[in-house]
Amino acid sequence: MKQQLNQLSAYQPGLSPPALKEKHGIEGELYKLASNENLYGPSPKVKTAIKDHLDELFYYPETGSPLLRKAISEHLNVDASRILFGAGLDEVILMISRAVLTPGDKIVTSEGTFGQYYHNAIVESAEVVQVPLKDYGFDLEEILKQVDNDTALVWLCNPNNPTGTYFSHEELERFLERVPSHVPVLIDEAYFEFVTADDYPDTLKLQERFDNAFLLRTFSKAYGLAGLRIGYVVATNAAIEKWNIIRPPFNITRLSEYAALAALEDQAYLKEITVKNAQERQKFYDIAQSEHFLPSQTNFVFIVTDKHKELYEELLNVGCITRPFPNGLRITVGFPEQNDKMIEVLKNFNY
Ligand SMILES: *Cc1c(COP(=O)(O)O)cnc(C)c1O
Repeated sequence: MKQQLNQLSAYQPGLSPPALKEKHGIEGELYKLASNENLYGPSPKVKTAIKDHLDELFYYPETGSPLLRKAISEHLNVDASRILFGAGLDEVILMISRAVLTPGDKIVTSEGTFGQYYHNAIVESAEVVQVPLKDYGFDLEEILKQVDNDTALVWLCNPNNPTGTYFSHEELERFLERVPSHVPVLIDEAYFEFVTADDYPDTLKLQERFDNAFLLRTFSKAYGLAGLRIGYVVATNAAIEKWNIIRPPFNITRLSEYAALAALEDQAYLKEITVKNAQERQKFYDIAQSEHFLPSQTNFVFIVTDKHKELYEELLNVGCITRPFPNGLRITVGFPEQNDKMIEVLKNFNY
């Protein structure tokens, strides 16, 4: 076995709603608001697309997801050869780490961000440099200072999970202007569709100037397809060509490809979801207690408090499963009914 596996553990999911109901003796509905899933689900057209292809399950998928590749290439206006799909961004992160990192390499990222960047780096015997968050956001200046000759990957998460904070187009541009051009900068935009800030980066535009700026997006969050596992990276075709060697040949299932295609085509539905999310998210910031909440560009809100255990229990008592962190609690924005219940709790909580 690889020695470094002793440092890591398998992903620990939270308890499911039925298990939690039993454990806490809760009656009535319990909603999982712990993993930033889209409660509204995907476009109704996704169900139709899946049904239309149920008779093809015995065929392997088309390797490389050509239909979806073409659709995303048109949607983003990038060459189809610059896209690589994974079974969720989780697999994209794994493939890039596996393709790039060798023992002695370093990755540079932030503390308090998505765990898969460093998890995969450790598996590949790379060293992990984690820069502390600054004002609960990515400290790009300090990350830049940590980049050296051994740095093989830089991972940026924008907006950041779990804090919900973001950095602007100008900040990213300044960063890319100064980071050595041979260091790949992976920009994880898992929550891109939920962003409402005007100065959020146009990363596709920056890619025209910076060959080392790579963009990651997913169908798991706003598109509501977390259960089907599909995400992708947009990079140079030279990088994609190499990373594609790592890709398991049939990593995207037939149904996932058709589902993602239908979800992508229904931009009107996506718009409805993201507008609703922005309205519901704003309700949290309309209360005085929002001084304890980090500003969010996503479908979740991070609440800063040492009493996250108590807050978790109180939210569970109103039927909402949330996600505690060492210095706070992350709640996914739910349906209006749950949001209103959570807001009542948050108004009366002693932070
Ligand atoms: C949810 C999430 C992912 C993983 O998404 P999948 O495509 O479902 O694997 C990646 N990055 C961030 C920041 C996330 O929050």
